[in-house]
Amino acid sequence: MSNNDKNTSRSAKQGINTKLAHIGNNPRDYHGFVNPPVVRASTVLYPDYETMRDRTQKYTYGTRGTPTTDALCDALTELESAAGTVLVPSGLAAISMPVLAFAQAGTHMLVVDSLYSPNRSFCETVVRNLGVEVEYFSPDIGDGLAKLMRPNTRILMLEAPASNSFEMHDTPLLTNIAHESNPECVVMMDNTWATPLFFKPLDIGVDISIHALTKYPSGHSDVLMGGVSANDKHWARLVESTQAMGICVGGDDAYLVLRGMRSMGVRLERHQKTTMALCEWLQTQNQVSRVMYPALPGDPGYELWKRDFSGASGLFSFVIKDKSRDEAGAFLNALQYLGLGYSWAGYESLAVMPTFTDRTIAHGPTEGTTIRIQVGLEDTDDLIEDLARGLAAVK
Ligand SMILES: *Cc1c(COP(=O)(O)O)cnc(C)c1O
Repeated sequence: MSNNDKNTSRSAKQGINTKLAHIGNNPRDYHGFVNPPVVRASTVLYPDYETMRDRTQKYTYGTRGTPTTDALCDALTELESAAGTVLVPSGLAAISMPVLAFAQAGTHMLVVDSLYSPNRSFCETVVRNLGVEVEYFSPDIGDGLAKLMRPNTRILMLEAPASNSFEMHDTPLLTNIAHESNPECVVMMDNTWATPLFFKPLDIGVDISIHALTKYPSGHSDVLMGGVSANDKHWARLVESTQAMGICVGGDDAYLVLRGMRSMGVRLERHQKTTMALCEWLQTQNQVSRVMYPALPGDPGYELWKRDFSGASGLFSFVIKDKSRDEAGAFLNALQYLGLGYSWAGYESLAVMPTFTDRTIAHGPTEGTTIRIQVGLEDTDDLIEDLARGLAAVK
């Protein structure tokens, strides 16, 4: 939560990979060692009564941050051009934490219908139980959002592209409408798919950017964490609420995420390149009725993606035409390199068969069965061979 002169003074003109190699900790703060120490901490000792009374030392208790968690917070804050970042124990907690910080009984919350399902479950249970009215809208609502805004609309929850079906929404437009009709409305966006390398929500007026650090920042399927970055207007309340609720993460996990972030830029280049090749190959297969990836020319979200994002990551879906879920299950069973498992953004490829049954507006494809692919760092030819094996198995 602190800042680091070395980094801020150089940040403006650096290339992204240079930035990723140097953000976060300053090696000079710890005897020159390149990486920050892993600090495991509850108690922090004070030298005397006066320091305790006046709270004048930098670290006061483990829940309030350590040099390890600060290194990661500073790195994320710089990548998001935020006022500050809090760390929470999972990506889902990075959704629930800011909502709990800003939700108030008697207010109204607008939520994009195509979002990450566990986010919706959270809205349907905890948020409704708090006395907040939750209303969903289509990702392609555009100007129509103005009609849904109310004087008590306190939170607008966005996510682009959509989980599993990859629809884009017009983020700057929706953000402006929310703020114009109610300056107190807090616009939050789950930015996990794009990462701060390909989209920076705060730069276009979003108030709070949410990340499952479990995904690309860690990149190795071995740690769970979330990060919430806020602008100047909302940072104080976010950090105060997080501390009030006692939410924090351990030093070992924070270290792993920071370690992963050093290579996030080069990993993403590779994920993006392989993903495009897989999408293009799938488009040539007559069993496939569509490929959903906003970086594909012709995708319904392509123009918005191209206007707002500077790259695309390695998660997309496609539809096996005219096949039931059980018939399409043969595709999953035939795969040899792609594992069957949830989560994504690790070095290994995965496939799942998502459902859209919780949605009420953006229902997802109906002409067949949707398969979601997480593209890892394997060689493209091997992955295409695996997809071909899967399609050949579908009768
Ligand atoms: C995975 C994911 C999350 C949740 O992250 P966890 O660390 O698994 O809780 C949140 N949002 C999106 C878009 C995700 O894909």
